[in-house]
Amino acid sequence: MRWCARCHNCRWVCENYPTKPWLGRLACNCGGAGAPCPICNSSDDASQPEMPEGFEAMVTKDDELD
Ligand SMILES: [Zn+2]
Ligand SMILES: [Zn+2]
Repeated sequence: MRWCARCHNCRWVCENYPTKPWLGRLACNCGGAGAPCPICNSSDDASQPEMPEGFEAMVTKDDELD
């Protein structure tokens, strides 16, 4: 797997600061939602972006609630 400088290979970036990784040691701490990394986790092909382990519930549920 190649090193992704955008998301530091966590596959997600901060929605508010898309140049910062959303998970990991250097993760953005602004409290914003996560967004799939546009470099390595684009959801254009096929279906859903790849989720971090143990993380499924948080992002997807919000949009469906109302
Ligand atoms: Zn952030
Ligand atoms: Zn990436």
